[in-house]
Amino acid sequence: MVPFAYTSVSDPLAAIERAGGGTGVEYIAGGTDMLQLLQEGVRAPLELVDINGIGFDDVSVAIDGVRIGAMARLADVADDPVIRERFPALAEALHESASPQVRNMATMAGNLLQRTRCLYFRDVTMPCNKRAPGSGCAALGGQNRVNAILGNSAQCIAAYPGDLAVALIAADAELMVRGPTGERTILAENLHQLPGDTPHVETVLKPGDLITAIWIPIAAAGRRSHYLKVRDRATFEWALASAAVSAAFDDDQVLEARIAVGGVGTKPWRLRHVEELLTGQRLDRALAREAGERAADGASPHEHNAFKVPLLKKTVERALLRIAGLQGDEA
Ligand code: SF4
Repeated sequence: MVPFAYTSVSDPLAAIERAGGGTGVEYIAGGTDMLQLLQEGVRAPLELVDINGIGFDDVSVAIDGVRIGAMARLADVADDPVIRERFPALAEALHESASPQVRNMATMAGNLLQRTRCLYFRDVTMPCNKRAPGSGCAALGGQNRVNAILGNSAQCIAAYPGDLAVALIAADAELMVRGPTGERTILAENLHQLPGDTPHVETVLKPGDLITAIWIPIAAAGRRSHYLKVRDRATFEWALASAAVSAAFDDDQVLEARIAVGGVGTKPWRLRHVEELLTGQRLDRALAREAGERAADGASPHEHNAFKVPLLKKTVERALLRIAGLQGDEA
């Protein structure tokens, strides 16, 4: 491991000043991903700023929505009664993330910013444009089973691995961000970027930017929602495909819908064309199947991950059947 400086702060403004002052200064909170990356030599910051003391770790309910502190631990939010009752897809996504031990440590913002599980990103002996820009992409001709089928570029096909970000998109969530130039709001959907020619640039955050809270509008609580995750084993495993579905109904007719999928895109992937297909229609088995069929439109699989195309289709179909009350996940 490369030596680095360590600073612990209790004031968010001090944290922002420290991290915004130069390159090579990174935040650390739960550390569940960062510590792995340090040990593997994938990341080598000059300084880590420990923000565990800054607060921002509560869940508060307002008349127009719910505010979740960015430093809240996954386990606490997953078990929060308001989240469980009003935003079931979010609670399900959190419960299915990582392991109980990791959920006790990991923060909401840290989870959003976790790095890809591409095998070659985490192997410093291999070429990887995301870790070492311009070095090449070993996954293109290598083991790419876990990699993306949507949003790929010639430079990178790494899948975004998280669950929480997918569920937040289906809930129309916004992120509150403080940075060296002030405060701003980012739609959860707009946090991550496509790899394009710069796969090392993963989000719209700038040096020193600190996510302070997640805001979920109350309208999302009026929809039925579900998060379905398919993975190789039942715990501590990332999604091969996942779907967060959310819809408001008038009887069985869809008034509006949000569909986001994970484990398949280079960023958390919203399926607007599937939402449009569903809107105004009666959600029955035939429509759920048609929506599933459309879920992988535009997919560009590689040698070892073509199985994700039918898997994604079935995952979306099953999740929709669940909120329609027609079938469970075992179908
Ligand atoms: Fe690196 Fe992306 Fe290629 Fe994986 S897919 S080796 S992360 S450039």
